[in-house]
Amino acid sequence: MRLIFLGPPGAGKGTQAKLLTERYGIPQLSTGDMLRSAVAQQSEVGKRAKAVMDAGQLVSDDIVNEIVSDRIDAPDCAKGFILDGYPRTVPQAIALDRMLEEKGLKLDAVIELKVDEAALVRRMENRVAETVAAGGTVRSDDNPEAFRRRLEEYREKTAPLSQHYARTGQLKTVDGMADVDTVTAEIERVLA
Ligand code: AMP
Repeated sequence: MRLIFLGPPGAGKGTQAKLLTERYGIPQLSTGDMLRSAVAQQSEVGKRAKAVMDAGQLVSDDIVNEIVSDRIDAPDCAKGFILDGYPRTVPQAIALDRMLEEKGLKLDAVIELKVDEAALVRRMENRVAETVAAGGTVRSDDNPEAFRRRLEEYREKTAPLSQHYARTGQLKTVDGMADVDTVTAEIERVLA
C-alpha cells in the first residue's frame, strides 16, 4: 500500500499516518521528521534547511525530492509506505510521479484531510501545551508567526495538489474535523 496524506499543518496527517502504519505494517515517511533529524545532526542538508523551516517556509524541492527518493529505496518500504508532508508543491508531485515510475511503483491513494482553518490554530496551541506538559521539546516552527506562514505556504503551494490528484483519479477526501477514531474509520472505509 502506497499512500499520500494531504492537508494543512495541524490537520492530523501525522496522527493518522502513525495509526495506519500499524494497520498495514508499512512505514510513515514524514519529510518534516527527516528534515528535523537532519537539523539535529547538523548535516549539510540540516544546515541549509533550518532557517527556512523556522520561518515556516518550504525547503527547496530538490532537497526533499532527493531525501524521499533515497528513503523509499530502503528495505522497510518494500511493502509500501505512507508519505506524510510530501509532496507539498506541484513540482514535487511531478517529481514523485516520475520517481515512482522509474522505480516501477504505483500510488494506491491520496488522502486529503479537510479541516476548518480556525481549528488548526487551536490544534497547534493544544499540541504545544501537550508537549510542554509531557516535558517534551516544542517544535521551533510551532509558534503563531511561523504557523501563519506555514498556512499561507499550504494555501499557495500545496492546496493545488488536490486538483492534480483529482485529475489522476487518486484523490480521496475525508472530513478531518471528526475525532481521531472516526477519521481513522473513514480513511479505512475509503481505502477498502
Ligand atoms: P511538517 O513536520 O510536515 O509540518 O514540516 C515541517 C517543515 O519542514 C515545513 O514547514 C517545511 O519547512 C519543511 N518541509 C517538510 N516537508 C516538506 C516538503 N515536502 N517540501 C518542503 N518543505 C518541507
